[in-house]
Amino acid sequence: MLKINNLSATVDDGQKTILKDLSLEIPAGEVHAIMGPNGAGKSTLSYVLTGRDGYEASDGSIEFEGEDLLDMDPEERAAKGLFLSFQYPLEIPGVPTMTFLKTALNAQRKARGEEEMKAPEFLKKAKALAAELKMKPEMLKRPLNVGFSGGEKKRMEIFQMMMLEPRFIVMDETDSGLDVDAMRIVADGVNKLRSKDRGMLVITHYQRLLDYIVPDKVHVLAGGKIADSGDAEFAKKLEAEGYDAYAA
Ligand code: ADP
Ligand code: MG
Ligand code: MG
Repeated sequence: MLKINNLSATVDDGQKTILKDLSLEIPAGEVHAIMGPNGAGKSTLSYVLTGRDGYEASDGSIEFEGEDLLDMDPEERAAKGLFLSFQYPLEIPGVPTMTFLKTALNAQRKARGEEEMKAPEFLKKAKALAAELKMKPEMLKRPLNVGFSGGEKKRMEIFQMMMLEPRFIVMDETDSGLDVDAMRIVADGVNKLRSKDRGMLVITHYQRLLDYIVPDKVHVLAGGKIADSGDAEFAKKLEAEGYDAYAA
């Protein structure tokens, strides 16, 4: 589903090469985790995937469902179903959450040449999902994330993810300092979203998150590339032994 081939990436107007010759393949239906030392380039990888300004692929290729991802602008990537979770959730004063989400969903559907979702169907879907996630219905009427608690923001993030029908999810939780409650919310949401048609890349600093989201594969990002890979147990070994063995 996602195939990264010998990717190099730069920041700072090409001055600084962060990723070098990185290759990684994530099939549909699998959840892969990336761990690694601070500053290794984990967030850089997530930004290159979603096409954030300032993070340039200088070599290699990325295929998403057989198409050239690097050729698409960020909106096209979103329309194809690539979703990056927000490490620092966006607050949008003045726009009710539901209005924002319906606009985003229908923009994606339009880009895919699909019919727009009408208000009644959208409301029905949103209400069912809010109940499933144990969200107060009142939250959906408030402006997006404004005045939400940390836990409410996490729940909202999962809610948005589920409403937007992503095909592939990239989560970068590295520096967000999740407490146990927030971690549970994220993990429950991710586990609900696991499906044979969907792939996920979970970037984390905390092995503990992987006790709740048990990944199919765990990779170490060090020295600009995938330096090692293993199964879920491998994450525990990494936590215990650190990354010195992978020092560049
Ligand atoms: P990680 O997420 O693994 O901690 P990052 O991808 O955030 O690592 O950062 C990798 C390296 O790239 C770091 O040395 C960081 O300082 C640098 N870097 C990231 N973004 C920028 C930027 N916009 N401008 C300059 N340097 C950057
Ligand atoms: Mg960091
Ligand atoms: Mg990071």
